[in-house]
Amino acid sequence: MNDESLTTPETVPEALRYPLSSRPEVGQAIQVAPGVHWIRMPLPMALNHINLWALEDGEGWTLVDTGMQTSPIATAWEQLLAGPLAGKPVRRVLCTHMHPDHVGMAGWLTRRFDCPFWITRLEYVTCRMLVADTGREAPSDAVRFYKASGWKSADVEIYKARFGGFGKMVYALPDSYRRVSDGDQLLIGGRRWHAVIGRGHSPEHLCLHCPELRLFISGDQVLPRITSNVSVFPTEPEADPLKEWLDSLSSIRARVPDDVLVLPAHNDPFGGLHRRVEQLIQGHERSLERLRAMLLEPKTACDVFSVLFRRPVTGDMLQMATGESLAHLNCLIQRGQARRATDSAGVAWYQAT
Ligand SMILES: [Zn+2]
Repeated sequence: MNDESLTTPETVPEALRYPLSSRPEVGQAIQVAPGVHWIRMPLPMALNHINLWALEDGEGWTLVDTGMQTSPIATAWEQLLAGPLAGKPVRRVLCTHMHPDHVGMAGWLTRRFDCPFWITRLEYVTCRMLVADTGREAPSDAVRFYKASGWKSADVEIYKARFGGFGKMVYALPDSYRRVSDGDQLLIGGRRWHAVIGRGHSPEHLCLHCPELRLFISGDQVLPRITSNVSVFPTEPEADPLKEWLDSLSSIRARVPDDVLVLPAHNDPFGGLHRRVEQLIQGHERSLERLRAMLLEPKTACDVFSVLFRRPVTGDMLQMATGESLAHLNCLIQRGQARRATDSAGVAWYQAT
């Protein structure tokens, strides 16, 4: 489960502001606003860190996101609880969304402090579903899906062998949750935080806006230097997550003022929310134009990687590249700009209309 899209450009125009001069070391925290503390955890992948937020909440803490289930992160939590979090209890664990780097240690923390787990409903149930895939064999629907995208048999075999890896990155999920819905106002440490839901990167991603502090915890919904992964998965082959993603970005621009400090899950806190939202929307629109131009001749999902991604797609990236390629292709189909025909071998061919 990768947060970073293969469409991330090599360099991003530096139109954003990064007002903080240092980053917290592992096991440490930096206060970024009254009662709001920045925690950074290491991740064992190319995207090598995640930002978490500890909010002072009465006699304890509300934590926003938790890190992946790894032993370095468990060690870092022990350090934080004993040190920067001053031995005060965690009163609530809130997760922006269900990806393992965000939700991975939620069950560990909620059981340790016997505290509630707050998340949106679709993130909770989707996470339960993906965790339950661990130990199962790859379903034939998924095999058919990747073969239709143009995968070779050898790649399908690797997929089958690796199927179910999601659950290994997540500590046993809390068995119940407290639902957060779009527009809810959460009182944390005496301040109101507004729930702003986004879609496309994950099914019902929670962002939190505090007008009083002029802060916006954006999770993976708005990242300053990374384009978030937006993919189609075998469970819903006809999904159009790119439309949901673009609509969500527009909605955030309309609902959240530009003067906030954005606290993203990756990279550094930044100013320039509306400019960043515009860059992200324009980046996808340009990709869709290039893709449409390539579809004058019929192509498979794997044939179009070169117009969407700046990096060559090698083994480990194939699944994500396919998901992102399908997100752009399905979006063109939904806009009436492309059509799909499946040949006798079950391979899907896309062509501009
Ligand atoms: Zn994510």
